[in-house]
Amino acid sequence: MKIFGIFGDPIEHSLSPVMQNEALRALGIDARYHAFRVARTGLKDAIRGAAAMGFGGLNLTIPLKEKALELDFLRADERAMAIGAVNTISFENDSNQGNRIRGHNTDGWGALLALQDAKVRVDGRRVLLIGAGGAARAVAHTLEKEGAEISIANRSLPRAHELATSVGGMGYCLCDLEKLVLQADIIINATSVGMREDDARLFDGRLLKRHQAVFDIVYNRDTELLRDARAAGAVAIDGVMMLVYQGAKALEIWTGKRAPVDVMERAVREGLEERLARSGKEP
Ligand code: NAP
Repeated sequence: MKIFGIFGDPIEHSLSPVMQNEALRALGIDARYHAFRVARTGLKDAIRGAAAMGFGGLNLTIPLKEKALELDFLRADERAMAIGAVNTISFENDSNQGNRIRGHNTDGWGALLALQDAKVRVDGRRVLLIGAGGAARAVAHTLEKEGAEISIANRSLPRAHELATSVGGMGYCLCDLEKLVLQADIIINATSVGMREDDARLFDGRLLKRHQAVFDIVYNRDTELLRDARAAGAVAIDGVMMLVYQGAKALEIWTGKRAPVDVMERAVREGLEERLARSGKEP
């Protein structure tokens, strides 16, 4: 039986095991996917250990995605290098060169496919991306390649400028959000704002219009931003399909098989509902 895994810290709340185990079962692959708590200091040994034990593949999450690029034995692909983060690792067994450890980033794929799923095209459209962290970088680099015109607003202005420069866009502070929202076709929240119920809104949701699409990559709850988007009659997309498609792409890299996206989506939505039921709240 093959073992796949996700490394991160904290890791207890990851939905990747339930999503990937359902996918592996649906594909009839004799394998299990587990979550492992791995701190930054343990990453090198943990990846080497997984390679030595014949793991089928790995995902990395907070706080390891950027750290992986510092490992001399890991060969990151062009996309992961441009984004500056690795969320998927594959092991290639080559009889001449031994076990090669490769780094990929599938978060941007996930975001693009989630937009396509909702019939939102990005080519030539004005995208306002809020955030400049790891997920925002993956989204920015992918949408730029698809022909989007990207503006980036972030709490830390130097990070907004840095990311904007790398994708040929403009960087702004959050104080410019109201003006930027009015000018955008697509608004993407790639910050962690909205993960908690008491998070303050990033901008006044009454500014949203029905011709806009709003994509909130937060996936653990129905955010105020998404509710504002629906109230305005705009297209509202949550972060679940991005999570599903980034996982589907990872599974395809490891197995060469087409991932059962519908099975994976059901597993994630059921996992979220169970979590809500356990917390005693209504969905
Ligand atoms: P990260 O690298 O830590 O970046 C966090 C971002 O949020 C930064 O831009 C940060 O701004 C901003 N931020 C944090 N607190 C803020 C606040 N109170 N007000 C305004 N901005 C704030 O994290 P990440 O990995 O990019 O993840 C960001 C979010 O995306 C998380 O909610 C994560 O769950 C979600 N995500 C979803 C998927 C998916 O598949 N749906 C995949 C990856 C991540 P500064 O630069 O100023 O600190």
